[in-house]
Amino acid sequence: MVCLLKRYAEFFPLTPNTPLLSIGEGNTPLVELCNLGAKLEIELFAKFEGLNPTGSFKDRGMVLAVSKAVEEGSSGIICASTGNTSASAAAYAAKAGIKCHVILPSGKVAKGKLAQALIYDANVLALRGNFDVALEMVRKIADNLGLKIVNSVNPYRLWGQRSGAWEVCDEIGAPDWCVLPVGNAGNITAYWTGFFQYMKKGLIGSIPKMVGIQAQGAAPLVKGFPVPEPETIATAIRIGNPVNAKKALAAARNSNGMFLSVSDEEILNAQKELARKEGIFAEPASCATLAGLYKLKKEGKLPKNIRVVMVLTGNGLKDPQIVDRVTSSPREIEAKYDVLKEAILSC
Ligand SMILES: *Cc1c(COP(=O)(O)O)cnc(C)c1O
Repeated sequence: MVCLLKRYAEFFPLTPNTPLLSIGEGNTPLVELCNLGAKLEIELFAKFEGLNPTGSFKDRGMVLAVSKAVEEGSSGIICASTGNTSASAAAYAAKAGIKCHVILPSGKVAKGKLAQALIYDANVLALRGNFDVALEMVRKIADNLGLKIVNSVNPYRLWGQRSGAWEVCDEIGAPDWCVLPVGNAGNITAYWTGFFQYMKKGLIGSIPKMVGIQAQGAAPLVKGFPVPEPETIATAIRIGNPVNAKKALAAARNSNGMFLSVSDEEILNAQKELARKEGIFAEPASCATLAGLYKLKKEGKLPKNIRVVMVLTGNGLKDPQIVDRVTSSPREIEAKYDVLKEAILSC
């Protein structure tokens, strides 16, 4: 498969000096979820972004942000992260041979994501403060130290992430609805912009209704004001003051869309449901999308027979500890034929 930057070269701000980095990002599967779709009485698809090289959609934006950083002569990049941005930044910095500094909220990053940043050999710093504080500090220090910031305030991040919307359209055209989990509100903005660009080019007829789902304890876009102490088990969207709030609100407004919030319990139930009915293991933040659809269905706000794409932003393997909360440990048995037989027959 030709790499993402080359495949969509006409839509990206590339120059002859842009290195076309790639570790195999994009081209993720659009999976039809027949079982859950039937239950919700809609035509439901999942864009499974957890199958990107570092396990989240962040790779789509990071590949362009790091390529441009190298083109501009940066010797290093820096980011604040709830986990996935750091994993992706560290991987692309490794590929490009530049230094990567990541600032994480101490104790609030899923195990798998931390492991990624460490194995890619980023300079990993655990800050005593939440993500919003970490990002504020990174924004202050980046320029002074000549480091390129690769959070979603970097315009190339969102530009690269538009490719998710393009891939959906290239495969099935524009869906009626596009549902995304919302943290810093960059991805929903990127998808809307991607759809808008395709519409202007005449490649699709209309823009899907953009539906953003937040966690109840971290729902500034639902409430209409920042949340000083955001809290949710879905650590990827544990953000109280989204930097792309204005753009995301405009995306929802311009597409006749909406924001809503779901509880941690609803998120965990949706995660189980997705795994058990469709065979897809996505991280909690991603499953907020399905939880949101269930909620809308219950409230009678989900039209029948519409075509819906939900963006499953990250891989479930990144956060194995969360599984302990929704499942029980395997039953240990003696290595005896009769014991095994009984255990199988009694299940
Ligand atoms: C980053 C991330 C989000 C939130 O995306 P924003 O662009 O910050 O709104 C959601 N889910 C996962 C898995 C993420 O890594």
